[in-house]
Amino acid sequence: MPDTPQQRSNAGIAKPRRTLSVRVRLMILAVIAVAPLLLERIYNEEVDRGDRIEAAYKNAFDVARQGAAEQNNVIVSARAFLQVVASARATFNGSDNECSQFLATIAKPAPWIKTLSVANVQGRIICSSSPEPIGLDISERPHFIKAVDSGDFVLSDYYVGTRIKSPLITLALAQRGANGGAAAVVLGLLDLSWFEHVAKTFVPPSGLMLMIDGNGIILAQYPNLQEMVGQDFKTHPLVQAMLSKSEGLVTETGLDGVHRIFGYLQLPGTQTRIAVGLDEKKVLARVDREMWTAFAEVAVVAVLVLLCIWFGGERLLVRPIRALAITASRIGRGEIKTHAAEMPWAAEFLPLAVALDDMAGQLSEREQELRDSNNQLRELAQIDALTGLANRRAFNDQLAAEWKLAIRLRQPIAVLMIDVDHFKPFNDLYGHVQGDACLRKVGGVLIAGTRAQVEDLIPALETALPPPLRRLAGHARKADFAARYGGEEFAVLLPGADLEAALHVAERLRRGIENLLMAHAGSSWGFVSISVGAASVQPAEQGSPQQLTECADAALYLAKRQGRNRVAGPEPVALSRAV
Ligand code: GH3
Ligand code: MG
Ligand code: MG
Repeated sequence: MPDTPQQRSNAGIAKPRRTLSVRVRLMILAVIAVAPLLLERIYNEEVDRGDRIEAAYKNAFDVARQGAAEQNNVIVSARAFLQVVASARATFNGSDNECSQFLATIAKPAPWIKTLSVANVQGRIICSSSPEPIGLDISERPHFIKAVDSGDFVLSDYYVGTRIKSPLITLALAQRGANGGAAAVVLGLLDLSWFEHVAKTFVPPSGLMLMIDGNGIILAQYPNLQEMVGQDFKTHPLVQAMLSKSEGLVTETGLDGVHRIFGYLQLPGTQTRIAVGLDEKKVLARVDREMWTAFAEVAVVAVLVLLCIWFGGERLLVRPIRALAITASRIGRGEIKTHAAEMPWAAEFLPLAVALDDMAGQLSEREQELRDSNNQLRELAQIDALTGLANRRAFNDQLAAEWKLAIRLRQPIAVLMIDVDHFKPFNDLYGHVQGDACLRKVGGVLIAGTRAQVEDLIPALETALPPPLRRLAGHARKADFAARYGGEEFAVLLPGADLEAALHVAERLRRGIENLLMAHAGSSWGFVSISVGAASVQPAEQGSPQQLTECADAALYLAKRQGRNRVAGPEPVALSRAV
């Protein structure tokens, strides 16, 4: 059997190629099966991420819109306020001083109105709720000119006050005179209290709210309200983006250096823009955290699935395969009693287990057949085809075995050499076919005769053996052995027989042949006869079975010389060697 790879290749057996194991293949299948789900999950997370960023933009824009709405509310109420003042002013006939007192009283309950003033048509402030603006010339201010021209409500742009470092807006409403034209202009100066209110209420902690005028000057920023107010940022990319459109969304680095998602819009009636920015990192951090959590979940599930496949595959697939392989290799080694099919197998493995059992069964049958044919061949090699007796080789083997046994048992062993008398003339007279038939008959007598002899021998053998060995007499019984020695010569082996017993058996055999009365015209007696030479010996280590057969052979020739159809023991000289 080729065992090493070298021997295998020498024997022409292909080397087993190692490819992916069953479990790895299953894992690949699982990965292929799970991949679409994974990809879908990743895609969904990406979509979610986009949605969340969009929601952040919308949120920022909504807050900005909230600011615009708040400003609008303030302006609408301020307009109503100015209308009341204008109507009251029309009926008011007091001095400028009284006018100022009136305005101070009326402005007091409205904290978002910084100053309430009245300017004449020439543009000079004639009375005011606070003393500073009185006498101020505002004739060049666009909102004043526009208010006088239109005779209606006008809104200035936001600006940072020179005194109060905070964004302000002036509202102007023309007071019509009796002729229908503008008689005076009522002015309201509003601060940005709404801005902070909106920022505090709607802007998240990490967010930012920004207000710029049409020239890119910072009007307000929440938080850090005071720091940048009044500074010109028109070259800043964020400010440029805000000024380029009336409303929009942009991701930019804010004025504080933080990258943010901004939503911005223009406040109605002004060039001012309000922007709300949410910290992009924080928005994305949450989104990314959720995304990575989702990925981690998927990864954990995938690892668990792969582990289940690895260990489950070991138990459910690899072990049964190994068990089948062990069964197959046992069969290969000749252990052909397998009951693989009796074990609990998965449906796919059962046919293999059944096939292995079948194979083992068939191998067992083949082996039995082989054993039988070997036995037959062995027997054929030891049996003489003509007579059915053992042949000369079998006789010699048996003699050698009995010789050794006799040494151990310290018992004698006898050999009879038998030759058919005048057989050549028999052949000549009756032909070979008759000659063969004659030999068969002689063989039959020898078989029957040795069996009969056994019965005679047992009592003698049993008495000859010491009591502990008497049970071995049965063994001797089985060992009597008749063989065709060659041609028309036969030999009989008589274990346990001394010369006397051997001569006794020889004589009986001779008589047995005689009694057949096979006609033989070429013989002196007119029938077929045999001559028998007997010899017996107590075998010893230094002796050999060959000496015994030679001795029996010599006795046979003696019988021939003495006239045939007789039994002879060893000659005196030979006898000295035999028992
Ligand atoms: P003796 O009494 O001295 O033994 O004389 P014999 O004729 O028997 O002896 P010999 O050795 O001269 O002749 C033996 C003969 O046996 C010769 C041979 O043809 C014959 N023979 C041997 N084997 C067979 C056999 O298988 N079949 C037949 N029919 N004849 C055989
Ligand atoms: Mg002969
Ligand atoms: Mg002869």
